[in-house]
Order: sequence, then C-alpha cells, then structure tokens
Amino acid sequence: MTLLQNKLDRKVTPTHLKQHNEALILREIYAHESISRVNLAKLTHLSRPSVTELTQGLIEKGLIAELGPENVFDKVGKKPTLLAINPDAYQMVGIVLNNTSITASLLDLRMHIVGQERVALNDITSDALVALMIDVVERTLRQATRPVLGLSVGTPGIVNSDEGVIHLAANFAWHDLPLARILTDRFQLPAYIGNDCNYAAIGVQRFGAAQGVDNLMVVEIGDGIGVGILADGRMVQGSRHAAGELGHTPFMPLEDPCICGQKGCLETLVTWWGMKRHARQFIQDYPDSILARLAQNHEITSTILCEAYAQGDPQVIALVMRAATYLGRALVVAINLLNPQYIILTGSLLTFGDSFVDRVRTTIKQNTLPYITSQIEIVANGLDDRSILFGAGAFLLERELGL
Ligand SMILES: [Zn+2]
Repeated sequence: MTLLQNKLDRKVTPTHLKQHNEALILREIYAHESISRVNLAKLTHLSRPSVTELTQGLIEKGLIAELGPENVFDKVGKKPTLLAINPDAYQMVGIVLNNTSITASLLDLRMHIVGQERVALNDITSDALVALMIDVVERTLRQATRPVLGLSVGTPGIVNSDEGVIHLAANFAWHDLPLARILTDRFQLPAYIGNDCNYAAIGVQRFGAAQGVDNLMVVEIGDGIGVGILADGRMVQGSRHAAGELGHTPFMPLEDPCICGQKGCLETLVTWWGMKRHARQFIQDYPDSILARLAQNHEITSTILCEAYAQGDPQVIALVMRAATYLGRALVVAINLLNPQYIILTGSLLTFGDSFVDRVRTTIKQNTLPYITSQIEIVANGLDDRSILFGAGAFLLERELGL
C-alpha cells in the first residue's frame, strides 16, 4: 500500500478533528495580540460552543490565558473577555551554527530571547562538533525556567528536515548525520534540524521584514551559494532535500572545475574561493597591477580583493561585476521558475557594496519580463541577525503546536 493510500484510508477520528480545531484556534490566538471568543468563532467558522470548549482546554493546558474585557464602547451589555497566548507556557532552544560559532538561545513562545550561550569554533568538525553542540545546549537548558518544548538547529548543508538528518555539510565533515535523533536521545526533547537559508526564509516571513510574504528567496553568497525558498507559504526542500543548490548549476562559458566535481558551476565565479582563483591568475598576467602590489607574493585574502576593488584595479572590478552579472542571470532562472515577491541578498560577498548589488538588480531587470520584475523587491542585507534563530523557533512551533 502506498503512503498516499494509507493516508486516504485512514479515518478522521473525533480526536484528530479536535486536535485540528484546537490548532486552528491556537493559530488565530497566536496571530493576534489578544482576541475574543466571538471573533475566534467568526475567523475559524467554528461554532460558539466549540470555541468555548476548545479555549477552555487550552487554558487548562496553560497555553493561553484570559485577559480583561475588551474595550468596546459602542456596545451595551457584557463585554467579551479577551484571550491571549501565554508566552511563558514553554521555552524553546534555537541553535544557530555557522563556520565560526555555535549560538544557542532560549526563547519564549513570542520569540523573546531569555537566555543565550555562544562558543567559537576553531576548526572543530565531525563528532567533536556534535559534542560541543551538546555541551552548549546543556548549558542553555540550565537557564530554562519553564518546561522546554524542544530544540531546533539551523545549519549550513543539505538537510532533511522531516527526518532531522544532515546529508551533507562539507565544512563540518558531516555525512548523513542523524542530529535530531542524537539530540533527542541526549535531552529527551523533540529536536528539529533545518538548512540555515531555509530557516532564515521562514524567520523573515514570520517575524522579520517580509511578514506575510508567501513567496520569497533568501540568497546567501560567500564561501558558497545558499538559497532558501518559500513558495506559496511553504518551505521548499525538494525530493532529496537539495532544493536551492543553485551554486552548482553550470553557466556557459564558465569552465573551471568546481569543488563538487562538475565544471563551470556558478560557484567557480560567485564565491570567495572562485574569485581568489581568478585573482591568482591576474597576478601572473598583470604583475604590476594594484592587486599584485597589495598581495606582495602572499596568499590572496578577501580583504586584499576588497582593497584592490576599492583602489580601482581594473581586472578586479571587471571580475566583481562579472560575478554580479552571473548571479543576476542565475536568479533570472529562479525567478522565472518561482515568481517570488521578495529576494533577500545576504552574505559576505556583499562587502563589494552597492555597485555589486546594483549590477545584480540591473541584470535581473534587463532579462526578466517586466510583468514579473515590476512586483519584485530585491533587498540587500535584509536579514536580521536573528532570522535563522526565529526560523528555527517558528519551525519548532509549527511541528509541535501546529502554529
Ligand atoms: Zn559545483
């Protein structure tokens, strides 16, 4: 029997229906600062007695609380009592992992940070990195003053969020790491894992600059290219959880070998490592250039590249503009497939500044139907530091409470 048949054959029991309606009510209460039972009934199309029964259950669970009566001056009679989420019903631990640090934050249900632990990474990978993460989570959990709903980790890499497995995170030497199971076994709490760009997309849509925007992309460019996609309000993972691997698309006439084993991938140009490789060639071809003078036979760093760009080295300027053009072209493909309303460019490559971003924008505008581009907002550095963290929290809330 297929999974779909299995789902279709499964009867909807009264318990399922109650859980579904309870989540519906909780979602509406969460979406409002406070709300009356009358308005809940209107918004959910549930009967008044059902709303009364379900909200009573949620009050008993401590998830919501009654506030004072609503200020309705134009009505006579009894004023309705307002309901609101109880932000302290649970606390959650959101963990953000990047190449330089692990930060674990204790959040309330309204995403206020009530505690935090951070540790720097010094080339720690593999099992040692997992052990370090467990240590940081343990210290954060010690700060908890309420029951903990669960843990949620945002990490670079190809991540199966349904099973909590990191298929590939090359920088950390992780292959098919069942991180969710490891954390659940250790802490006896539900644990979820998400790709950092996917979590950022959710975070910015639920709690950041793009609230309510259901079609958006977060594009991170730096040591690699990461894309988080939200389509029609849903996080897109793909059949092998590798949706958004735009960096490993070959673009003619690029032909350099890529770290993935293919040739001519976008990442061979639009990453620090790709640019440095081109720059090394420039030094051989133009030994009297600004870049060659700045490098002085040392290894080319991102700082040297930025300085050569700022001082007007023509080869470096051309390289940066070429990278922006190719990124723009790649995004045209993504835009035509997904028709996003909002694109957030982020990552360390944006150090090249406005001219880089302007070139990306112009390339997109010149190569996309005006009907599509007239609606797109392309924002540089539009992510709050906390976007990944809030996305981690939002994912946990959705999976555990249906929010
Ligand atoms: Zn590649």
